[in-house]
Amino acid sequence: MQQEAGVGGEALEVWIDQDLCTGDGICAQYAPEVFELDIDGLAYVKSPDEELLQAKGATTPVPLALLTDVVDSARECPGECIHVRRVSDRVEVHGPDAE
Ligand code: SF4
Repeated sequence: MQQEAGVGGEALEVWIDQDLCTGDGICAQYAPEVFELDIDGLAYVKSPDEELLQAKGATTPVPLALLTDVVDSARECPGECIHVRRVSDRVEVHGPDAE
């Protein structure tokens, strides 16, 4: 099992708001292990066993080795629709709703 990323050792998870996704694919270029474009042209997160998660608001763990790539994706996402949050209290730490 991959080690999950965290702030101060806390686990993080990521989800995408497909309503705002532009389908440019930046996230899938940065972190193809976590993000993938489906045939509908929108990006979705993938489970650790690479299953595309299409339920609204579905989350997947952020692997420690991919933290930088996932955070960069959230920063550069033109739709501002990639949300990275703590698993423990669901507080967003990277993304449009982060403080
Ligand atoms: S970077 Fe953002 S807008 Fe672009 S495909 Fe990924 S989630 Fe959608």
